[in-house]
Amino acid sequence: MRPQEAFIKETTNKIADRDFRQKVSVLLDGNEKKRQQALSDFSNIELARQRAAYIKWKVTENLDKYLVDFEAAIIRKGGKVIWAFDGANALAEIDQIILKNKALKIVKSRSSLCDEIGLNAHLKAKGQTIVETDLGDYIMTSLNEKAFHPILPAIHKTLPEINKLLNRQIKSSLEADENELVSDVRAELRNKFFEADIGITGANFLIADAGLVAITENDGNARLSFAFAKTHIVLASIDKLLPTINELDLFFALLASHSTGQQLTSYNTITGPRNKEDVDSPTDFIVILLDNGRSNILATQDQRQALSCIKCGACSNVCPIFKNSGGAPSYQSYGSGPIGQVYGPMQQGLEEYKYLSYASTICGKCSDVCPVKIDIHNNLLRNRHDSVQQGFEKTGEKLAWYTWKKFMMNRKNLNRPASIKNFTFRQLYKDEWGTQREFPKIAEKSFNQLWREQLLSSEKKGNR
Ligand code: SF4
Repeated sequence: MRPQEAFIKETTNKIADRDFRQKVSVLLDGNEKKRQQALSDFSNIELARQRAAYIKWKVTENLDKYLVDFEAAIIRKGGKVIWAFDGANALAEIDQIILKNKALKIVKSRSSLCDEIGLNAHLKAKGQTIVETDLGDYIMTSLNEKAFHPILPAIHKTLPEINKLLNRQIKSSLEADENELVSDVRAELRNKFFEADIGITGANFLIADAGLVAITENDGNARLSFAFAKTHIVLASIDKLLPTINELDLFFALLASHSTGQQLTSYNTITGPRNKEDVDSPTDFIVILLDNGRSNILATQDQRQALSCIKCGACSNVCPIFKNSGGAPSYQSYGSGPIGQVYGPMQQGLEEYKYLSYASTICGKCSDVCPVKIDIHNNLLRNRHDSVQQGFEKTGEKLAWYTWKKFMMNRKNLNRPASIKNFTFRQLYKDEWGTQREFPKIAEKSFNQLWREQLLSSEKKGNR
């Protein structure tokens, strides 16, 4: 099944499930409320957003320089940087590292890139076990389901559902409350951290001049994932760079407030290759820099600002499509939510994934909440424009527009009653636009008719 067909099938099922949609809406609205409350911690949030947007714009416009600076700094400090053109490249490099280290035990923390390249499935197919240490991901992986939300993977699962799963999985009590469940999972995972040969993490930010990796989290599992391992692999995309460590105070605060409504997340780690005087950090520090279609985004003139995204998830919380369509798994692409809909078609191919940019009401709420001021909804329109320019529109729709234009360029048709014009319009587009869509209403009278009426009435007034 093609991605668009799967997307329509999934979303049609989810839209019919009113209870599920209501539950998800309440949860995401709650998250959005927390974001709004957290904004009061900034003395001038608008200025903070402008500064952040400017810094990310500067990085994107000079990405080649910052990437090379970052690589040079990591090498200078004794670490290694691997450039991965795509997911297959990254997986092959990880295989090599595992082989070279004869690694048997691998732990990982939350990273959307691991999902993007299909790391878990790849290692499983090779008979290698990898332990998921983020609680939300641990739940979703155990259920063999995809993360629902970019930041809160298991937000839609109820306590009884999780109780049942963890009772099966780690024998926790069926009556356990949330705190007890967290303790049980922590106890289960603790030894895995101690025994790990390799720890794999993502990165929230890469510091170009100093060759550092910044990771922000609430559970402490990312930090533990590499604390005892001999090798630390950081899987990061090429758009994670910040020029210097000085920018972190702004970006840590923006990310925390916009993702979970906190002033600052509980654990903020800045790490890098092991110093000579260090006694207990990983001996091998390897950063895999993944492109995987991001250069295509960089090559565009306008949509490249999407590379500024700091993955806070705020745009998903306010998006009516995300709320009602069954979350991230429905999208059938690497990313989800409004920014995933901008990214997806450019990253994975406009022809096959253009449907993502069309699945939007263009209400603009996503752009309003974005901490780095990405013009998300207009970028969706730009994707649509590119899709038309490149001739990817369906023949049926092109034909419908052609016929409609011919019909309306005839004066007799133009002056026909609105009911006839509305009927014709619906007939022409019903196959392409589907049965659920509300069609625009054609004006009751044409301009020509209104003009004549006005002329007639002024003539009458003049004659009186
Ligand atoms: S586009 Fe903006 S709001 Fe959406 S996840 Fe990225 S940074 Fe957050």
